[in-house]
Amino acid sequence: MVRESAPFQPSFFSEPESPRYVTQSQPPKQSFRFSDLRYIGQLLQCYLVCELRDKLVVVDMHAAHERVNYNKIRAARAKHVLNVQKLLIPETVRLTGEQVAVLLDQSEMLRDLALEIEAVNDDTIAIHGVPGVLSHLDCAALVKEIAAEPVSEGWRERLEERIDHITARLACHASVRSGDTISRVEAYALFQQLDEADTAGACPHGRPVVAEFPRDSVERWFGRDR
Ligand SMILES: [Zn+2]
Repeated sequence: MVRESAPFQPSFFSEPESPRYVTQSQPPKQSFRFSDLRYIGQLLQCYLVCELRDKLVVVDMHAAHERVNYNKIRAARAKHVLNVQKLLIPETVRLTGEQVAVLLDQSEMLRDLALEIEAVNDDTIAIHGVPGVLSHLDCAALVKEIAAEPVSEGWRERLEERIDHITARLACHASVRSGDTISRVEAYALFQQLDEADTAGACPHGRPVVAEFPRDSVERWFGRDR
């Protein structure tokens, strides 16, 4: 996938970081903060193993990144700044004729999510633009998934629900996946973004993002409680 204005994408988490200021008037925050985690390493190419005071904390990196991306799209859409990033070379996707029809039927809704598609012929569509707010969208896989999904008759009446569903799909295909390797810097950048996201505790599908094991449960694994 080639983009006009973003030829170099060194990192999944290349967003410029905004500094965090804490003023005296704010009450002390006792709640969980991802950026307080001490990152230890990646486990099974899927989980980020961390320590927080006397707890073992494990973060599902895909679920976490998905939550961050989902919130980015929702926030940009709410502020009417969800812009299309035009692809320098449109990405073509082969589908069945029926799937092309299903997609074209939803093309206006997809454009509302900054995803621009056009039929090339009966069984091929071209993707011309993707949401600029996402940095690594696997748009061909996304479009295949949307095209393969049966859409209920009355989806236009429940448009926001449909948009929300596609937003979650978009976020999924723009996120690190199990098997990807992420660096220490990327892990900490992800933690920072999770702290800035609302409801970071669960991915858009409702799966948990983080699991915590307090010291006593870790000690139980080794019979140290006896
Ligand atoms: Zn996913």
